[in-house]
Amino acid sequence: MTAIIFVLGLAVGSFLNAYIWRLHAMTDSRGLSGQLAADHRLPRIWEGRSMCPKCRKTLRWLELIPLVSFIIQLGRCRGCKARIDIQYPLVELATGILFVLSVWNLSSHGGPASGGEIGIWDLFRISDFGFRILPQWYLLAVLVILFVYDLRFGLVPDRVVLPAILIAFLYGMIRPGQINQLSMIHNSLFMILATTVGAGFFALQYYLSKGRWLGAGDIRIGALMGAMLGFPLIFEGLAVSYFIGGAVGIGLLAAGRKRFGETLPLGTFLTVGAAIAFLYGQELWNWYF
Ligand SMILES: [Zn+2]
Repeated sequence: MTAIIFVLGLAVGSFLNAYIWRLHAMTDSRGLSGQLAADHRLPRIWEGRSMCPKCRKTLRWLELIPLVSFIIQLGRCRGCKARIDIQYPLVELATGILFVLSVWNLSSHGGPASGGEIGIWDLFRISDFGFRILPQWYLLAVLVILFVYDLRFGLVPDRVVLPAILIAFLYGMIRPGQINQLSMIHNSLFMILATTVGAGFFALQYYLSKGRWLGAGDIRIGALMGAMLGFPLIFEGLAVSYFIGGAVGIGLLAAGRKRFGETLPLGTFLTVGAAIAFLYGQELWNWYF
């Protein structure tokens, strides 16, 4: 079962790679990345076959197997021997791992057979598990896109983050499993609180610094984090993000890769913090307190 989920995650990761490039080609073709975008330009996000950005060779199915093709071809295009961007296998691997972790995580929290082995059909069954796994995968996939996008292009695409905030919010409202009016009102109040904390934390910094410390996109990621984590886990998500951001920042300073004061993409760290707190928030919380 784990292997099947992992392979599914790899395939979704492969789609996310294509989505990231095509979204970028569609929405931003200015500046330094203009040529890069033109290389990857395709008519629509859902149309067109994948090709090598260098020699424009259309890729056959054998060259499109997630992770495997990259390893077999030693990270190079079979046509022109150009290096394949390391983003491809890394995104595929990350998505595969996140999908597996979310299934393990859900099954350990009262899965379909209350702790028993999950079968492939549990994914499609109308059960608490089947109901929760797809929104979880969607939200984790969104975090992967936002991670790469902010790291590469320094942008947070609205068309990815805005629907995700809405879905995370709806998902959070019915999270505990019992769907009745009282719990939904109770949950939505806490969700509004968490989303306000997440967005407000960055909005405040944005207005205080007049946009110099962070971008408006970080406010949206903050809102997404709040909607995904709820209250009070939003505080944990923020703390984990800043801890990781600080650790990586110090590491880069020490390695001489960055000078002090150079900005690191905040959104990238926020997505990592959000993913960790989303999957293991409660465990971390219990361990810490
Ligand atoms: Zn090529």
